Amino acid sequence: MNISLAENYGFCFGVKRAIKIAEENQNSRTYGPLIHNTQEIERLESDFKVGLTDRLDDFKAGETAVVRTHGITKDELATLRERQVEVVNATCPYVTKPQNIVQEMSAEGYTVVIFGDEEHPEIKGVKSYAQGAVYTVLHVKDFEKIEIVGRVAIVAQTTRKVEDFLEITEYLVKRYKEVRVFNTICNATLENQEAVEALAKKSDVMIVIGGKNSSNTKQLYTISKDFCPDSHLIESPQELEKIWFDTKQECGISAGASTPDWIIQDVIAKIKEITA
Ligand code: SF4
Repeated sequence: MNISLAENYGFCFGVKRAIKIAEENQNSRTYGPLIHNTQEIERLESDFKVGLTDRLDDFKAGETAVVRTHGITKDELATLRERQVEVVNATCPYVTKPQNIVQEMSAEGYTVVIFGDEEHPEIKGVKSYAQGAVYTVLHVKDFEKIEIVGRVAIVAQTTRKVEDFLEITEYLVKRYKEVRVFNTICNATLENQEAVEALAKKSDVMIVIGGKNSSNTKQLYTISKDFCPDSHLIESPQELEKIWFDTKQECGISAGASTPDWIIQDVIAKIKEITA
């Protein structure tokens, strides 16, 4: 079995930065999961005493709250500050950017369109910075339900595909006279996506490692499956099945932006062990 890693995979700049910030703030708690990776969150808890809570009310004055990579809403941030909680902001700068754009554009009277999943914490955060009309869309057909008036500004969830963003922006440009397009899709995501495509094309089995609730890992898996039907999404080496590798020769590996290197190494070791 030949095992090859994608040219770009795993931890991105924003996640590395957030983990470093968390490690520097021992005895703190993150509000919501810092990153989409259960194992890494457990490591931060056991090695650095960085806890996790999903309840804003758990934070008391004087405590430290680490804001997760994908941000929180403007109101939540204000509430923490009002309660005199020490806020350490680990929001990725690539997420802060659409938050700022939405705030600015909506202050200038633009109708804001956000291309993304409205249930995703990043989008809830970005949306909260709008002061006027704001709509979240995932598909062109979502425009049927909304009526846009005047000037439009559009941003994208950092983990979306550029091709899908183009479809949405094309729809708007064809219908509205003034459309400000901000491509806020993160390069780290793109690089990992291009690399998984290239590797999937020459592999007969692909293993994509990452959190099953991670949007960018799921995207990598979808791309991988398009080019290599025998693609599998796993969170840990225990999920590997020997049968996946029977009759295969080229195994490609990629990992989501929140997947730590030690898990990737464990998966490679396990593949070697079961295919030996
Ligand atoms: S994927 Fe991009 S936006 Fe998300 S944390 Fe990483 S660098 Fe930031």
